Amino acid sequence: MQSFISKIKESFRGEVRLDEPMSAHTSLKIGGPVDLMAFPEDPMSLQNLLVMAGKEKIPVFVLGGGTNLLVSESGISGIAVSLRAFRNIRLAKGSDDKSATLFVEAGVPLGKLMSFAKENGYSGIEPLTGIPGTFGGAVYMNAGSFGTEIKDVIVSVAVMNMEGRIVILGKDKLQFTYRSSNLSDDLIILSANILLKKDAPGAVAARIKEFIGKKSVTQPLGEASAGCVFKNPEGDAAGRLIDAAGCKEMRIGDAEVSTVHANFFVNKGKATAKDFLELMNIVKAKVEEQSGVALMPEIKIV
Ligand SMILES: Cc1cc2nc3c(=O)[nH]c(=O)nc-3n(C[C@H](O)[C@H](O)[C@H](O)COP(=O)(O)OP(=O)(O)OC[C@H]3O[C@@H](n4cnc5c(N)ncnc54)[C@H](O)[C@@H]3O)c2cc1C
Repeated sequence: MQSFISKIKESFRGEVRLDEPMSAHTSLKIGGPVDLMAFPEDPMSLQNLLVMAGKEKIPVFVLGGGTNLLVSESGISGIAVSLRAFRNIRLAKGSDDKSATLFVEAGVPLGKLMSFAKENGYSGIEPLTGIPGTFGGAVYMNAGSFGTEIKDVIVSVAVMNMEGRIVILGKDKLQFTYRSSNLSDDLIILSANILLKKDAPGAVAARIKEFIGKKSVTQPLGEASAGCVFKNPEGDAAGRLIDAAGCKEMRIGDAEVSTVHANFFVNKGKATAKDFLELMNIVKAKVEEQSGVALMPEIKIV
């Protein structure tokens, strides 16, 4: 990797770190080192990095806020790219006195977008309040809450492919399903335009407060987790099935099924990815045995 760094030095603006522990970049605080973590400061640097990585056949992984990831102890081979420097939000063309089109870059923390919407009186994403991570991660995952998903406000998405080419994908080219999209792992989301309605800032703030209030009693927000471990099966809740299968509080090493929300598994201290996966397998088997439902993971296992 040292030779890779020397090769891109002239054409890359931003920080690079060798053997960076992923545990420092995931909300679960689990994960071994990535060979190289790169924090490009502009699209050109990202482009140069991708082109060089392609030439050298080095795999590239895109890291958002790391709030939906379970990374193994062996870490990630290749490069993890963080777009944390891409954090602009501004009003885009197509806004009028009733609606606002916002241009939002991928590295914007979702919480920052929420504050921007609150301060300026833009409505439409209030139910997503409390979802951690970045805007790019939310688009990739089609993050959602209380019946609203990020797809509901997306107008277009700008992506860069692994050859460094930027393409704008309009609604006709985008397909979002439950916690998933057709944005493949070979595409890096740079930004998206979202359409929100104008409303009084006080009214937006009141709704945000209401949603965060609901979340704070139903989710273990102060503990290390990656959100929901399994997807909700059609017409049911994974948390309810896990609870019904008697798995609440089940523990392997320091990985534990949360006492607050059974579909959140928490790291009580020194949990490893192995503990976490073992717990997932046991819970999945118990739920299948008890209810016949085969749960599918929502978290991304890297
Ligand atoms: C306490 C807690 C509560 C949560 N509540 C919810 C909830 O209510 N609803 C919900 O949907 N989720 C929830 N989550 C899960 C998680 O926060 C979301 O899935 C979030 O959108 C992930 O964003 P991220 O930036 O952290 O992505 P990461 O975890 O870093 O990455 C997730 C995936 O997105 C990809 N990705 C990230 N950024 C980009 C990019 N710019 N371009 C291409 N691919 C990219 C990654 O490669 C990876 O495959 C919760 C998590 C926690 C810890």
